Amino acid sequence: MLDQFQREIHYLRISVTDRCNLRCVYCMPESGVECLPHSAILTYEQIARLVEQFAALGVTHIRLTGGEPLVRPQLHKLVAAIRAVPGIQRITLTTNGILLSQQLPQLLEAGIDGVNISLDTLDRQQFAAITRRDLLLETLSGLEVALGVPGLTVKVNCVPTEANRDQLVPLAALAKDRDLSVRFIEMMPIGLGRNLGRLTQEEVLAQLTDAFGAPLDCPPPPGAGPSTYRTFPGFTGRVGFISAVSHQFCHNCNRVRLTATGYLKTCLQYETGRDLKALLDGGASDDELRRVIAETIRQKPASHHFSTAAQSGDEAMNMHQIGG
Ligand code: SAM
Ligand code: SF4
Repeated sequence: MLDQFQREIHYLRISVTDRCNLRCVYCMPESGVECLPHSAILTYEQIARLVEQFAALGVTHIRLTGGEPLVRPQLHKLVAAIRAVPGIQRITLTTNGILLSQQLPQLLEAGIDGVNISLDTLDRQQFAAITRRDLLLETLSGLEVALGVPGLTVKVNCVPTEANRDQLVPLAALAKDRDLSVRFIEMMPIGLGRNLGRLTQEEVLAQLTDAFGAPLDCPPPPGAGPSTYRTFPGFTGRVGFISAVSHQFCHNCNRVRLTATGYLKTCLQYETGRDLKALLDGGASDDELRRVIAETIRQKPASHHFSTAAQSGDEAMNMHQIGG
């Protein structure tokens, strides 16, 4: 469906939990996090019912995220339920990879099409400092298992900061000999990310050019969104840049978000949206749900204002509560 600025919205990111088995410094506080009670989050049945309404309005791609989506029990059951919804063409997952090697067989059977694995460093101590957990080897094993599955789209997501500046070349090198996309996601001033310095696309590209030679144009991988992709001489895979602050792409934005609490969020930066769980709990009909979803999406803001001062109505949540 179209929003008020004629942008076609066909991508829905669904956060299935605010809980996580890591505590990345830019995303989730180390302590004092009060997790939502189960009664406050959507059940899988409620999520599937909402997906039916979104699909009827033109959504074709669902991404499951969190918190860490794989800490919610039986996620494959949700994948299977979404797979059964007419109109949904693509189901993908964003994960820190820690539980992936155990769960990937069931997720594949349920119909997952792609996996994005967040990985900021290949150095074990640095990983423990950034995520506050010594679990690099678990993430790497999830990545290896995913790369072994024919036809599964696999991407690595890295947020470049001063803390992992020396790891950007080794991370990009993962794409040298395999059909992998390594994407550098510019830190966004949301929640804890406000306090941390970000490296720009230009800085990252300069490092990669020094290491691998001049970047080359290349076709994007399946399901490509706002990323711009480049490859390097001799590379099988590619490197992507998602630079929401320095290379704003709001005019092309095709997505909305559903939080674990059932709040339909139309832009990362603002609180604006609508509580769909309240409607579900109140017994709303499918027609009513579709009417509210369409109305809310139509009001999607024109753009974020990441580069200007905070204002009232800005999102106060941390990223683990939104889903990235
Ligand atoms: N736990 C899963 C994971 O880490 O992939 C899914 C949820 S996490 C919130 C989704 C993505 O958001 C991750 O790739 C993470 O690096 C990214 N992220 C978190 N905080 C961010 C920030 N302030 N700016 C940019 N990306 C951020
Ligand atoms: Fe957890 Fe993902 Fe946030 Fe890291 S980025 S704390 S893995 S939700």
